[in-house]
Formats: sequence, C-alpha cells, structure tokens
Amino acid sequence: MRIHIITLGCPKNEVDSEMMAVLLLQAGHQTVAERDRADVILVNTCGFIEPARQEAYELLDELTATRRRRQALVVAGCLAQRRCDEICQRFEVDAVIGTRAWPEIVGVVEQLAHRQRRPIRLVPEAGDLVASVQRHATRGNTAYIKIADGCDAACAYCTIPRIKGRQRSKAPDDIVREARELVAEGVLEAVLIAQDSTAYGRDLTAATNLAALLRRLNAEASGLAWQRVLYAYPNHVTPELIETMTTTPSVCHYLDIPLQHGHPDVLRRMRRPHDLQQVHGTIEALRRAMPDMALRSTFIVGFPGETECEFEGLLEFIEQVRFDKVGVFQFSAEEGTPAYDMPQQVPIELMQERYDRAMALQQRISAEINQKMVGRSLQVLVEGVGDGISVGRSYRDAPEIDGLVIIDAELEPGRMVEVEVIAADEYDLEARPR
Ligand code: SF4
Repeated sequence: MRIHIITLGCPKNEVDSEMMAVLLLQAGHQTVAERDRADVILVNTCGFIEPARQEAYELLDELTATRRRRQALVVAGCLAQRRCDEICQRFEVDAVIGTRAWPEIVGVVEQLAHRQRRPIRLVPEAGDLVASVQRHATRGNTAYIKIADGCDAACAYCTIPRIKGRQRSKAPDDIVREARELVAEGVLEAVLIAQDSTAYGRDLTAATNLAALLRRLNAEASGLAWQRVLYAYPNHVTPELIETMTTTPSVCHYLDIPLQHGHPDVLRRMRRPHDLQQVHGTIEALRRAMPDMALRSTFIVGFPGETECEFEGLLEFIEQVRFDKVGVFQFSAEEGTPAYDMPQQVPIELMQERYDRAMALQQRISAEINQKMVGRSLQVLVEGVGDGISVGRSYRDAPEIDGLVIIDAELEPGRMVEVEVIAADEYDLEARPR
C-alpha cells in the first residue's frame, strides 16, 4: 500500500513517524510524498496543548472532506491516545493508534485492506505496550534519537505523564548500536531527546545515566561530530554531566533547560523546582566550565494566578540570566491537569500582552548576544544550498528550533565547514567561509 505520512508537533513525533515509515517500508509498503497518490493517509498528531489540538482537528476536517473515497485515514500520536472516542465520533477515520501502539502500524495498515465498518482502535493504556524497535528519525545529516519516553515529574499543567506514563529508558547498548548505524548512513549530528533527558537511565541501573551515555557514544560511535541534548530538567544537571559535556569532544556546548518560569511562587504552583538560587548555581557552573555554552530555555506566561509582579519577576530573571535562546508559550488549560481548575485564570488578552513583552525582551538579548559573535569562527553543518548561498547550523542552534547560519557561498550539504561570522540579527547569523 502507498502511505502518505503527515507529522504534527514536536521532534519526538518526528521520531515516531520516521520509525513507522521504516516499518512500513520493511514490510513492503511504500511511502509517498503526494497525498493524492496514497491509499492511506497517516496523521501523527500532537495533543499537548489546545493550539496543537486545533491544528490537528482542522487538518482532520480537511482530510475528511477532501480525501478520495477509497483513501483510508489513520490517526496516531498523542491526540489519538488522549481523545480516541472524540476522534472516532467527530471524523470518519479508519484507525486510531495511541502513542504506545505505533510499532503495530504495519498490522493496522494491512487490516485496512480488508476494510471494516468500525474504525480500528489501538490505544493501550500507558505502560501496556513497549516498543521493541529502534526509535530514531533522520533529517539530512542529523538524527533524533529518543533515549527515553514518558515522565516521572508532575508539573501541574502537563498531560504528558498521563498520556505516556512513567519514564522508560532505552538500553545504552541499543542506543549505541543505533548511533553506529546512523553514522554508517552519514549522520553527523545526534540529537538526544526524551521528556527529561537528564533523568535518562534512572529506571535502569544505578550506573546508567546521561553522562555515561554521552561518553559511550563519543567512544563507540566515532564519526558522530555532534551530540546535542534537548530537554534537561533544572535540578537534574549534575556535576558529572557538566564535566562530561566539558571534556567529551563530540558533545555540543548547548543545553536546552525548559525552566517554565522565573518567579518562585509561580514555579511552586506549577509544581516545578522553585529554588532559583539552585537554578542560578547550575547555570553559573555550566558557563564557568564552558564559556562558549549556548543555553536555551522555555517559559510559560499566563499561568493561573500569575500577577503583574510575578510576571515582572520572570522578565527580571530572563534579563539576569541572558539565555542565548528562549521560547515563550501562553498557558493552555489542559483538562485533567491540576492547573485546569485553578482559580484566577489569566485572560487571553493579558497573556498575549505578556507573551509580546517577554518575546521583545528576549529578541533584544538574543540580538545583543548574536552581535558579539561577529568576527568569530564557527564550525557549521551545511544543510542546504542554492542561489549563491548555503544554510547550516553551528553547535549553538538545534535543528528546527533555533536559528541558521547563512553563508555567502555555495557549499556541499552534509559538510562541516569553518566560517567567520560577518553579521547577525536576533535569530540568524551571516557568515563567509574561512
Ligand atoms: S517535566 Fe516536562 S513532560 Fe514531565 S511533567 Fe513536567 S512539563 Fe511534562
């Protein structure tokens, strides 16, 4: 069968989509880029926050109305896990596959050939089904490797622990084997992802942790130029991890630590680590050990009860720390989370105003930091070329999240090149080859 896959949401979903594509190809099916040519349209959804759900529902509406009569529609991912009944009632879908069930995609697609009247539902409870296949997604010379799934934290606004269950880490041997295969295929950058990458291995053995994994990948997947860690939990950044990041050549001096707020009272209500002294201490330790460290964080504005004073505390915190990159999200009340029923929900207009103020502040800071890069040399992974320029990324930029380095020369994609930065704005750098 020919399958057209549409992926919504975050890099973790990209990984699952890629793996479903691999399983389908291995089973003799074909993936096609054109929706019209497909026998099956597979939508891998995100159900994390309201705007993501809206995006998925709008797409499902469109697909229900426009797909050909014999084209099957399969919905997978977080929204499928969470809203299986609603999806089956609202849309004419042929199958719904939850977050733990994607390894079953081949069986589902093959059952569709013997079309049933009722949609196939494969939505196991969290923990029921553990994928036994490798989990990575490649994009050019970069691969995302999911090192764990699920989360043991209990942030008051987050549905992930309910959707995905407790953390389950992949065995280090499997990750190393996967990385070696990726290197053999030409991958230069491995992006390690999990809900909390810094909790990696806690559910395995006492000796298994992220630092040890990074060291093993450096030693045993030679050819991997960059290892990049996304999604660190503030108080899980250990001295051992900092030491390993500092001394392991392939580990990027880049860390994404989603902190979510900069005022202790809001953090307490969010059920997040709220000792800001400790957070400052961790950031200082990272920067002391790696002066070229690029730090990214994300913050939520408009959490229930957020006062003007608390919001200004967040701005002050952002100003003090001067992160290299920041993402800001407006609070989204998710049914079934403690924050959903909290009093003093912040009006949408006020959330938007706070979002704009936080973004404007960070844009100024990012522009100032980027401006200081002018004149410096950087290693860049070239990802695209055309019209006399090339685009790539340095260790400072995670794929699809951060900015680009635009080089005024046509260079071969997939190469690491040294460039000199000649101009900068708040997101991107301009450079010329050295
Ligand atoms: S650490 Fe992240 S995934 Fe886990 S509950 Fe908190 S926000 Fe959700």
